[in-house]
Amino acid sequence: MAPRTVFRTVRPDRKRTDVPRVLPRLTTALTVAAALTLAIPSAARADHDDSATDPDNRNQAVKGFSLTANGTKAMNHGKAELERSVITTSWGGGDIEVYDKNYGDTGWYGRTDCTNWNALWTSCDIIRVRLNTKWSLSASQWRSLGCHEFGHTADLGHRKGSNDSDNNSCMRVNIWPTHYDQHDLNAIKAGT
Ligand SMILES: [Zn+2]
Repeated sequence: MAPRTVFRTVRPDRKRTDVPRVLPRLTTALTVAAALTLAIPSAARADHDDSATDPDNRNQAVKGFSLTANGTKAMNHGKAELERSVITTSWGGGDIEVYDKNYGDTGWYGRTDCTNWNALWTSCDIIRVRLNTKWSLSASQWRSLGCHEFGHTADLGHRKGSNDSDNNSCMRVNIWPTHYDQHDLNAIKAGT
């Protein structure tokens, strides 16, 4: 069993004590650090990360970097799903950057984090999406993963069965819906 690793957005070139605001409810660096520490030993099977990143505006340029066919599938679908929200997208660098490779048995299918925060660390200029080709996923699952990770780029966190009773949000983990539901779309509107 791979350890489930729940990652939160961490600026790689800063110390953990400098962890920026990630989610509104995580208001102190102490809280974020605790979440990082506590998440790692959990035993569940690998799934997605747990990051959510606030984009710096509602016009997001998307660029994939030497993606595999599966990574491209995920990216294209994620971009199309974002288009259903208040966020408009285009192709090009500088906002959402997508990478894929075999990252190994890392405990995650995908990870989204910020590589370039704005000066106040309140929103992200360049958001990095990484897709792990280690795992064998169906075409539909790749689309779900793209939807999911792009949801994180729009500041969406994870959904649970308790607030997604019809199982139709790609922000769920391990059941692989391929779209945002209305709740997600509303949340993007409210949060970006
Ligand atoms: Zn996730």
